Amino acid sequence: MSDESSNFEIVLPDGTVYRPEKKKSHTVQGYTPDGQPKKMKFSQQTECKRCGECCMRDTPVMLKEDIPLLNKGVITEKDVYTIREGEKILSSIDREAYFSSMELIKIKPIFGSTTCSFYDPYEGCTIYENRPTVCRQYECWSQSIEITGLEGRRLTRDSLFGKIDLIKRAIENHEKNCSLEKFAELVDELKKQKSESVEKIAEMILYDSSIREWLKEKLSIEEDVIPLLLGRSLLNIAPLYGLIIEKEGENFIIKVTQEEEE
Ligand code: SF4
Ligand code: SF4
Repeated sequence: MSDESSNFEIVLPDGTVYRPEKKKSHTVQGYTPDGQPKKMKFSQQTECKRCGECCMRDTPVMLKEDIPLLNKGVITEKDVYTIREGEKILSSIDREAYFSSMELIKIKPIFGSTTCSFYDPYEGCTIYENRPTVCRQYECWSQSIEITGLEGRRLTRDSLFGKIDLIKRAIENHEKNCSLEKFAELVDELKKQKSESVEKIAEMILYDSSIREWLKEKLSIEEDVIPLLLGRSLLNIAPLYGLIIEKEGENFIIKVTQEEEE
């Protein structure tokens, strides 16, 4: 077989063999037909196009370097909430549940979504010139998209309220009485039919609810600021742990679900 012949042959009814010729003018990818390298066009992204894809996927963690944004009122205490250490959360990447290894303060998402509350579908980021550090440093086009030194750089409730004695004590008492590690243990016990854990879970939920009310009534703290001071309520996060808790008057009804829900 000559070099110009195809690897295929067809035997026709009269016994003749038809072997199509290879196309003579073939090209190799990246080269012109005369063998010269093609001029390649690269459209490498080098800056944020403000497409909003990352703003819809998750909300940013606040760092200590972002305190000036809070001081200037660009971001207020109502715009952020706390993820407590040990809290069960859903990964924004694979939607798998995991436990947060540290306390984090994040911008709130739009209710019922993962979209940052500063994102507008028409305008994009409404605080773009003053967006938090993590948003400024995030380069979706780059290989290095992780936040370095998060443990030391992250904003904490202590860095915001450590000098306000009453609030500091309220946070400490809440952590002591509504520890998320303990809550997870009790839920596990409940799933193993240990009935005494129901009472302990109910006590925890009652404490969580009453201290929120106390902050509002006694310290005139607005409802929207409570998720920053105490994190999300146990009632709100319970479905992630496989519990549905309903309030009926002064009573709570606790149901164990088959599937863990967001
Ligand atoms: S960082 Fe990337 S994903 Fe996020 S808004 Fe900018 S271009 Fe879009
Ligand atoms: S602050 Fe702005 S840039 Fe950052 S996630 Fe929210 S909308 Fe996007």
